[in-house]
Amino acid sequence: MPLLEFDIIKQYFSKITTQKNVTDIHLGIGDDAAIVSVPGNEQLVVCTDTLNAGIHFPENTSAFDIGYKALAVNLSDLAAMGASPKWFTLNLSLPEANAHWLAEFSGGLQQLAANYQLELIGGDTTRGPLSISITLAGHIANSQGLLRSTAKVGDKVYMSGCTGEAAYGLACLMGGEKPSENQSYFISRLNQPSARVDLGLRLMGIATSCIDISDGLLADITHIADASDCGIKLDLNAIPLPRIDDVDTARRYALTGGDDYELVFTVPVSRQITLDKIAEQLDIPITCIGEVVTEKGVKLFDNNTLVNLPVAGYEHFSA
Ligand code: ADP
Ligand code: MG
Repeated sequence: MPLLEFDIIKQYFSKITTQKNVTDIHLGIGDDAAIVSVPGNEQLVVCTDTLNAGIHFPENTSAFDIGYKALAVNLSDLAAMGASPKWFTLNLSLPEANAHWLAEFSGGLQQLAANYQLELIGGDTTRGPLSISITLAGHIANSQGLLRSTAKVGDKVYMSGCTGEAAYGLACLMGGEKPSENQSYFISRLNQPSARVDLGLRLMGIATSCIDISDGLLADITHIADASDCGIKLDLNAIPLPRIDDVDTARRYALTGGDDYELVFTVPVSRQITLDKIAEQLDIPITCIGEVVTEKGVKLFDNNTLVNLPVAGYEHFSA
């Protein structure tokens, strides 16, 4: 029996519900649209991200990982806003209705949705090249969202975790780097990134600005500097490096590799001790990598020597 659109939705997607946030959701999957409410003293925060086969993940990525990652990248965007994620919609374009693939894919979605008590409230299912588009919404207390545009001169710049690992994992998979001892860890960082939702929530009232690192550390830090109309001075020797033997290679990946979904954020010196406590409580490594300065642009220093920046970031429409 071929799977019809209705069967796909009923069998694989209408079950992605934890029944935990149901007070917000008046109507989920099944009607022409969903109906949700937002508590009076909170604002709705909405983001959306698409994953296209061959562009955002290698064609042979497991269906479980595709489902997991499609939700994780959206969770990371809400984390960077300091929002508490609540519900999502799923627009799925599929070349064929393969029951095994759908079971794995919805399993990846379900696992992450359960971790954060998210409800899948609707979507659209069509035939076409494999593409997954998720819209995720969450709540923040009125006017408390963490923006890119509000870093202040004198703030310290911090990042969670380590960047360059996912890009190195991708390079190992694609044959661009020779297999490494930590290869399976790097590939897991690529396929199942850990969105820093809990950290984002705790940064409210602590960080003055925040962004998630999807395009690369330098590229995304530049977004904070530009949006905040200031500059950022980075300390090359403070930046955490992926565990690769060659230091120059590790640095290049750490500075320019995308897809790690860590957070980079700015914090006034007066709140550093509070931040250290948060990092300890959450058991998330946090590193001070630089400071916000008046002079525009992002500059990288090796001790006191200015270092040329490697070409930064992933750009979909570059030549
Ligand atoms: P309509 O034709 O009115 O747009 P659909 O047949 O596309 O309705 O969808 C029926 C219901 O199933 C809707 O509530 C829709 O939100 C939901 N739905 C469709 N595809 C998905 C999906 N991939 N994930 C979750 N819900 C879906
Ligand atoms: Mg529809």
